Amino acid sequence: MLKYRNIAFIGAGSMAEAMISGLINKAGISPNRIIAANHSNENRRLELTNRYNITTTSVRELSLTNTDVIILAVKPKQAEEVLQQLRPALQDHHVILSVLAGISTTFIEEIIDRSLPIVRVMPNTSSMIGESITGISAGKFVKNEDLDLAQELSKAIGKVKIISEEQMDVFTGLAGSGPAYFYYLLEHMEDVAVENGLDRELARDIAAQTLYGASKMVMESNDSPSELRKKVTSPNGTTAAGLEALAENGGGVAIEKAVEHAAKRSKSLR
Ligand code: NAD
Repeated sequence: MLKYRNIAFIGAGSMAEAMISGLINKAGISPNRIIAANHSNENRRLELTNRYNITTTSVRELSLTNTDVIILAVKPKQAEEVLQQLRPALQDHHVILSVLAGISTTFIEEIIDRSLPIVRVMPNTSSMIGESITGISAGKFVKNEDLDLAQELSKAIGKVKIISEEQMDVFTGLAGSGPAYFYYLLEHMEDVAVENGLDRELARDIAAQTLYGASKMVMESNDSPSELRKKVTSPNGTTAAGLEALAENGGGVAIEKAVEHAAKRSKSLR
């Protein structure tokens, strides 16, 4: 059970903080079960200690003897250096979770050169408010109980889907980068509403609630997005006019390309 596991974060940036906050505030993990190791940035460590009452340290001073779960949360390009640093301290009971975008479990397995369970975890920024959709996939030494643990842990920051590692790139293009597409959409909706006479704040509220409502409709109804769209589009009506302009200007294609390109970039990171 997650509650009785000691968790060490390697890298204490924004993703680590979102997870720490969820683990303490949502999953009810005691702060004394969490340790976060960061680079030389002492101010950042102090900030996390003050905010969450957890222990913080440098990677060099970190002892992993009492740790059960290691969460890798540095930037992907720092992965190799950090794994080399951790390697001598790794033990057979450790489960490793990696949030590093584009870094495969095989890459990690090769560097650590041990048969430890490695679970890839791909959250998105909505984890900061407990609303992530997180994809998790298992490396070759992962047992069911390790995957259950990763799932339980990821639920602290939102919803979870188990996927294969091959699906991780498209998941990243869809959900990892997804919030930014919707921000972009909202930006444009807001701008045009302002140009047409609404105050910015009012326009923002309206656009955001519209997106939230549509999203909730998709989640709560049995209809597909396409069926829902057809139901709200009367012939020659306002929505039909809007959708026509969207299609004429390549709206659908642009969205497909965004997901595709982000997935391709994720693939190219390794
Ligand atoms: P961040 O820059 O906020 O955090 C990285 C942290 O690692 C920093 O605090 C830095 O000081 C620390 N660090 C750097 N080198 C280190 C070292 N050698 N030893 C110890 N600590 C070191 O980045 P982030 O946004 O938290 O992203 C972390 C990871 O999460 C990335 O690999 C990213 O791919 C992944 N990720 C992030 C998001 C997101 O939405 N932010 C989503 C999915 C996955």
